[in-house]
Amino acid sequence: MVGLASLGSPDRIIPVNSDAAPAIDVRSLSFAYSAGQTALTEIGFQVADGSRTAIVGPSGAGKSTLLMHLNGLLPEPLPKDSHRASISIHGVALAKNSAAEIRRRVGFMFQDPDDQLFCPTVREDIAFGPLNLGLSRDEVLARVESSLKQVGLTGYEFRSTLQLSVGEKRRVCLAGVLACRPDVLALDEPFTNLDPRARRSLIEILREFPGSQVIATHDLDLVVELCDQVIVLDEGQVRATGPVREILSDAPLMERHGLEVPYQLRG
Ligand code: ADP
Repeated sequence: MVGLASLGSPDRIIPVNSDAAPAIDVRSLSFAYSAGQTALTEIGFQVADGSRTAIVGPSGAGKSTLLMHLNGLLPEPLPKDSHRASISIHGVALAKNSAAEIRRRVGFMFQDPDDQLFCPTVREDIAFGPLNLGLSRDEVLARVESSLKQVGLTGYEFRSTLQLSVGEKRRVCLAGVLACRPDVLALDEPFTNLDPRARRSLIEILREFPGSQVIATHDLDLVVELCDQVIVLDEGQVRATGPVREILSDAPLMERHGLEVPYQLRG
């Protein structure tokens, strides 16, 4: 992963050399919400295939906005930058005519499960994505069953999506994402409100997922445990990128961006 931010000078960029084509390639991405609030400025980074990359930074840094761009959920970048801005997933550049393909490749999980779940039952919710892929009914049902098993919720098919704990809702959301067999996972705060057992089981699921993952999180101990690369975002800019341990043990850098060195990395 190589940071490419060019506005101001980032605090620390540690390049990770890789000959392989990146799974995710973001260049010069700037974005403002229609209210005029600038959320991202000249963001650039690459994620190697199979890598687990954390996006960390204070609240309001732009983490959710960046993840939504990876899935093509937000309008195109600022017009003044659009001649240079690009987002590519496994070589497919995000554009109006490729948005459906990008959404198929990138499984996105919202921060709030209630933004994601919208069908009355767990089975219908998980089936929604695979049905949209045009799969047969038998294949859809098989995928619902196997993804429920993957997240440890076998038997939940006919439960109401409204009557689940937050942890169960998150796992149903993840099952819906996994049922579409994406190449890349983009997960927004997936560990919030999980009890230790659910947290552990989510870590194992993510470890087994073979594709690239980008995970926005405040849980820095989890980043140390699970991720190999980290991007520090602050005020919509990439302030540091590199291997997790080197970046997250840099106490002055962490402090500058409202973060703390995780417990495991304190000297
Ligand atoms: P993070 O995920 O790091 O907390 P966000 O991506 O949610 O950051 O927000 C980045 C910036 O964009 C913040 O200043 C936030 O207030 C603003 N923002 C987020 N969502 C919206 C929205 N729907 N409309 C206007 N501004 C928004």
